[in-house]
Amino acid sequence: MDQIPYIKPEKLREFTNNRRQDFTLLFKKLKAKKPKNLDDVVHELHNEAFDQFDCLTCANCCSTISPVITEKDAERMAKRLKMKAVDFISQYLRIDEDKDYVFKQTPCPFLMSDNYCMVYEDRPKACREYPHTDRKRMYQILNLTHKNCEVCPVVFCITDELARNSVFKV
Ligand code: SF4
Ligand code: SF4
Repeated sequence: MDQIPYIKPEKLREFTNNRRQDFTLLFKKLKAKKPKNLDDVVHELHNEAFDQFDCLTCANCCSTISPVITEKDAERMAKRLKMKAVDFISQYLRIDEDKDYVFKQTPCPFLMSDNYCMVYEDRPKACREYPHTDRKRMYQILNLTHKNCEVCPVVFCITDELARNSVFKV
């Protein structure tokens, strides 16, 4: 995989839109065929990408989207901030259209100016797992992966690589 550059969210949206036809076809085929080696191929690209790309130079995810926050996440972060969970929820969270807790605002209230996370050790599970390209059964989250191309330079580059890979040629 080539060197991954930092790409601003507005540029990623434009690039993803320019590749919409290719990416849509790729994900449609992957959903239909569920290739046995899909996880292995994606995980290898994920490892290769994050070996060379430093999230501290990016923070697009923390700046533009909110993770889903579970009650356990909220309790853990509240404890760290020495707050009652109920106060933490009322100050920082709202319920979204899927009835999940998310942060009231983006950028995330815990994103610092140097792109470090103020609650890193106690961050939500969804933050730990983002951008999900190392999880098992990738075929289950292909729509989400397509959406994340607009946010995460690594996901965009992995998807671009998959679209060009002869195993999954579109
Ligand atoms: S809690 Fe931390 S890792 Fe999660 S979105 Fe906020 S700044 Fe980013
Ligand atoms: S996970 Fe993706 S969007 Fe988030 S900081 Fe890392 S490279 Fe950027």
